[in-house]
Amino acid sequence: MALLLTGALCAQTPVQQHGHLSVSGNRIVDSSGNSVSLAGMSLFWSNTGWGGEAFYNAAAVQWARADWGIEVIRAAMGVEHPGGYLQDPSNKAKVETVVNAAIQEGIYVIIDWHSHHAEDHKVAAITFFTDMATQFGHLPNVIYEVYNEPLAGVSWSNTVKPYAENVIDAIRAIDPDNLIIVGSPTWSQDVDVASQDPITGRANIAYTLHFYAETHTASLRQKALVALNNGIPLFVTEWGTVNAGATGSVAYQSVSEWMQFLCEHKISHCNWALNDKQEAASALVPGVDPNGGWSASELTASGTLVKSIIEDWETTCPTGVAPVMTVRLGSPPNPNALLPGATAPRIGAVWDPVVDHSAFFPSAIMDFLVVSTTQLNAPSPFGTLLIDPSVTVFSELFTTPGTFAVPLPYDNAIVGLQLSVQAASLGFGVIELTNAIDLVVGG
Ligand code: MG
Repeated sequence: MALLLTGALCAQTPVQQHGHLSVSGNRIVDSSGNSVSLAGMSLFWSNTGWGGEAFYNAAAVQWARADWGIEVIRAAMGVEHPGGYLQDPSNKAKVETVVNAAIQEGIYVIIDWHSHHAEDHKVAAITFFTDMATQFGHLPNVIYEVYNEPLAGVSWSNTVKPYAENVIDAIRAIDPDNLIIVGSPTWSQDVDVASQDPITGRANIAYTLHFYAETHTASLRQKALVALNNGIPLFVTEWGTVNAGATGSVAYQSVSEWMQFLCEHKISHCNWALNDKQEAASALVPGVDPNGGWSASELTASGTLVKSIIEDWETTCPTGVAPVMTVRLGSPPNPNALLPGATAPRIGAVWDPVVDHSAFFPSAIMDFLVVSTTQLNAPSPFGTLLIDPSVTVFSELFTTPGTFAVPLPYDNAIVGLQLSVQAASLGFGVIELTNAIDLVVGG
């Protein structure tokens, strides 16, 4: 019976395992609140006559799922270029084929408006995404990418952001919740700029980061860190093992450094590209059957490396720990005045517990928040000490009673750490101790 159950769990599709994706702080989390990093492939441009469109078929998606273990696939629908959606609306049917195949396989699918000038075709984008949201917005599989790569020199605040907000609002009029991913200037590298003026008032918005490992290294990761530290979540909808021109050779060391970074910050990624064009970024050698069944000798150097990354990704980068908070009273019970925050403790995010003074210590002049790794239940003249002060990891002072704001550092070493927090309120000649909140830091 146990074996049967294990088998059933292993057989779960990525969408059965993770369900609806959403944004929590700077992370993308699954329906259990766990930080998730998905690995998969991007198809090449869908443009009619460019060659990559041959791979927009159900058998290719099925093979990439079964043999490579992709958890997400990206349909990169060309827009303004020759053979793209504006000139040939049949590109939409190619995207629909891939979306339906992804639904069938239980994987996530990115519907990508693969444009460098999306602000010039906003009405078309709104029409297209309205249709996609109407057809697919009720399904957890679907992720919208509303602007692939704004060019260098275009303004985030004045051009890309307003475009994105308009398209987001059109999607949200139909689909209230599925993940929407937004590009940023300089071919989706300026995530730091976007993070300084983020899209607000709209739920489940993430930002794409694109890199090509031979061209982009530590300085782009630094920009990504600025974005994460400013609180926006990232999704690498496109990355290459080679240079930004999709040529050159596989930069093995740089790819390794990037993958470590993506796992550390639980960032999902799709490799460019599941295609057989004669260029270094292609995963497949020219002339393969576009319907799958690719042997090892039909993979390029890039395809060989990427397949190994994807098929091992669940082991390399397991799903993160969900943050939890529970309230603990002492013996005798402390006043239940320290209340869990609106957000759970997650690394890189702000945790915001509150002390309810109206029921506790209205005339307090100062609050302390004390954090320890060790629980205690020791009566004292001030109330029950619920944490061990001798192993306190930090304490915070607040001169204004009310909501605490505890920014948790970016340190993956604290993910899964169990901490206990107790507040103390100080009046004139009096200290009162609250209940404790025991928590597990998530990430
Ligand atoms: Mg939805």
